[in-house]
Amino acid sequence: MERTLVLLKPDTIQRSFAGELITRFEKVGLKIVGMKMVWVNEEFSKKHYAAHIEKKFYPGLQAMITEGPVVAIVVEAPHAVSQVRKMVGGTEPKSAQPGTIRGDYAQHSYEYTDGKGISIKNLIHASGNAEEAKIEVELWFKPEEIHTYKTVHEIHVF
Ligand code: ATP
Ligand code: MG
Repeated sequence: MERTLVLLKPDTIQRSFAGELITRFEKVGLKIVGMKMVWVNEEFSKKHYAAHIEKKFYPGLQAMITEGPVVAIVVEAPHAVSQVRKMVGGTEPKSAQPGTIRGDYAQHSYEYTDGKGISIKNLIHASGNAEEAKIEVELWFKPEEIHTYKTVHEIHVF
């Protein structure tokens, strides 16, 4: 069974459709095993986005992730990492496929955000691969914040 980290970024929380996005994951049968609201500070942003610190867009990225609370979620499923990435869609909402979360709920382009010197607002973060998922779940959640229980999906879907 795989686990992956999902963040509903500040733009999702401020636009008030966290529930709608959580429902999408629930309907697919992804199991929520951890969930909490967190307001990230600059130090924690540097840990979470360590891979991007040297990039030109990092200052905007840090400003975006620290501008309000996020909802952090750990989901579990046989192919949780790739399943969630498929549902989230491409990084740039303008070119993300319709049907994906970024394609359906946002429209920022690199061209537009580069011009304004801000981060691309794409609503959601999802771990990129199994290795990233392990590191990120451990960074965001203590072991006792992750729960073990049975859903009907484990009886009817898995
Ligand atoms: P995430 O890690 O948030 O799920 P991702 O894996 O699709 O997104 P990354 O390359 O890891 O994309 O970039 C992390 C985040 O940094 C993006 O989600 C976006 O908010 C921001 N970002 C990435 N590239 C750019 C860019 N060229 N200009 C502005 N912001 C960017
Ligand atoms: Mg990424």
